[in-house]
Amino acid sequence: MVQVFSRIDQFREHLKTVRNAGRSLGFVPTMGALHDGHISLVERCVAENDYTIVSIFVNPTQFNDKNDLKNYPRMPEKDLKMLESAGANAVFMPDESEIYPEPDNRVFDFGMLDKVMEGKFRPGHFNGVAQVVSKLFDIVEPHKAYFGQKDYQQLAIIREMVKQLGYKIEIVGCPIVREADGLAMSSRNLLLSPEHRKSAPLIYKTLQEARNKMDELSVKQMIDWVENQINADPNLKIEYFELVDTNTLLPVDSWNHSGGIIGCIAVWAGSIRLIDNLIFK
Ligand code: AMP
Repeated sequence: MVQVFSRIDQFREHLKTVRNAGRSLGFVPTMGALHDGHISLVERCVAENDYTIVSIFVNPTQFNDKNDLKNYPRMPEKDLKMLESAGANAVFMPDESEIYPEPDNRVFDFGMLDKVMEGKFRPGHFNGVAQVVSKLFDIVEPHKAYFGQKDYQQLAIIREMVKQLGYKIEIVGCPIVREADGLAMSSRNLLLSPEHRKSAPLIYKTLQEARNKMDELSVKQMIDWVENQINADPNLKIEYFELVDTNTLLPVDSWNHSGGIIGCIAVWAGSIRLIDNLIFK
């Protein structure tokens, strides 16, 4: 049976007994409205740890758009059933007042990592992510924590935060889980209208086709090509496509770049913003 906690003090007491019994703790932070992408993280966590903790908390400080926060899907009952079947041991579902009894005024400095791509278009987003994840890490004190590569930039920032704050937590990055038509799974997919949902698989299809064109097009030409492909569908509007170094997240200007290259994309499908990425090199 999965045990559900909403109070920090009770949850900490409980985790103390688990830790004292010598069991390893794995942690999967989420905002709920769970899908198979989340569940893949939970299953990996169950396989690699003695005790699996999942948090469900729609963190207000990471939403730069208040409508996005208001409309974010919430379905705790269904989530709990899915977590129970996936073998999670404990679920932490705090209220906002529990996590933020007072406003969190901490400002993190991640150098360029949070200035580019999502950071540029969603000011304050990653600072809010760092606030909530650090609070959750302090409460749970896991041995390992699991994050999806779907949010590639977030994963890079969490790794940097762990380094800066000296957490002894192993961060595990997990592959993107997709729908049968290639669309990266996301809680926000539920909010797509039927016609936007139909158009959305073009995002991943375009990334794949782009990777096949690396011999034909320069980096600059590739960026234009991807933008044109996406915008050719009247239901989609590209916000950015960037080809960046897999570690620094800074734009590359040639395929001969010495490090890895990843293509990261953000697209508006109506009023819903979707992101995806693909390793190019
Ligand atoms: P969220 O609930 O959107 O905050 O996501 C919680 C965690 O699940 C994050 O580490 C995400 O990167 C991860 N995640 C979300 N969607 C996917 C997906 N399609 N495949 C793999 N991981 C995912």
